[in-house]
Amino acid sequence: MSYKNFETQAIRIADSASDQREHSAPIYLSSSFVFDSAEQARQMFADEIPGNIYSRYANPNTSDLISKVCAAEGTETGVSTASGMAAMFGSMAALLSQGDHILASRSLFGSTHQLLTRVFPKWGIDHTYGDIVDIANWDKLVRPNTKMIFIETPSNPGLEIIDLGYIADFANAHNLILVVDNCFATPYLQQPAKWGAHIVTHSATKYIDGQGRVLGGLILGKKELIDDVQFFMRHTGPSLSPFNAWVLAKSMETLAVRMDRHCENALKIAEYFQHSQDIETVKYPFLPSHPQYDLAKKQMRHGGGIITLTLKGGLNRAQKFIDQLQMITVTANLGDSRSIITHPASTTHSKLTEEERERVGIHNGLVRLSVGLEHVDDIIGDIEKALVLSR
Ligand SMILES: *Cc1c(COP(=O)(O)O)cnc(C)c1O
Repeated sequence: MSYKNFETQAIRIADSASDQREHSAPIYLSSSFVFDSAEQARQMFADEIPGNIYSRYANPNTSDLISKVCAAEGTETGVSTASGMAAMFGSMAALLSQGDHILASRSLFGSTHQLLTRVFPKWGIDHTYGDIVDIANWDKLVRPNTKMIFIETPSNPGLEIIDLGYIADFANAHNLILVVDNCFATPYLQQPAKWGAHIVTHSATKYIDGQGRVLGGLILGKKELIDDVQFFMRHTGPSLSPFNAWVLAKSMETLAVRMDRHCENALKIAEYFQHSQDIETVKYPFLPSHPQYDLAKKQMRHGGGIITLTLKGGLNRAQKFIDQLQMITVTANLGDSRSIITHPASTTHSKLTEEERERVGIHNGLVRLSVGLEHVDDIIGDIEKALVLSR
């Protein structure tokens, strides 16, 4: 049965129910599954009939999670992975071969940058970075051996937006596989496959879990591509544990209400601080001052849960400000019910040179706020006090 609305789908789509008549999905902590007969085992191994064989291949809990996220993304099928990075790596490693070339947006998650610059070159897979602001000239970056485009939108932490419809047409015109890491937006805010992306990846660790508990990842798309990804993942082994899959499938049921509140809080905070005397710029996709406000409005339901604030006074001020926060946590995660602050220049993006950072908009005074689900007045109050104390 399928449902028209996101919320209902996320809650009511369930892959399996046991003969125990449970209302809430149980956890299937079983490495393998029993065959009725030698013939049934043969048929399942031959892919002639569906069914669980071994939890590295599939498990009722991972299948349940994949069904829920596929319904949310509008994708045909998928693979779940032990972490977001296993999903980023798998989406590339499974579909690329020695001698291939990837065209990627310059602003990428730190570990994805390491994959492109340090891991894939060992296997003869090259990359070129394109600037998001210069996307109209990306055809100059395509080489005869280019096979894939890999992007994130909104970008981290610059919050630059890539026009999904444009880049999908571009990928098709050049016969390239378009992969979109949709972790920041979540399937509730943005569905890249509906704009033409061929593969959608997730770190489910972030908003899909939403409470900072488990790691997980997803690779989703059309069956013809996912079949290759599934082969690669099944035989290399970065499978998601049934317990984590169960946590993530449960979290999918509350994704819409949580994202509504993350976004509502974030917009209020962005509006509140946009004219603050302590802040140079506030960046948020749904603030009219965002350079790509119209595009954000076109392809996202709301602006997301991440804001960046560039404080007056550079690095010193940013660090002083962070140390004065009472409630907001300093930790290396995002998309949690608890608000989190990060100083990208000295942490997540410290491996880039200052010039490289400036190029993707990571100024020394920039802090990234992952807006949580606390009462918005308490978040604003904490920021305001720390701004005053760090002057
Ligand atoms: C966190 C993150 C990842 C990596 O996910 P893990 O679950 O930490 O492995 C990849 N892409 C983006 C955009 C992320 O925020």
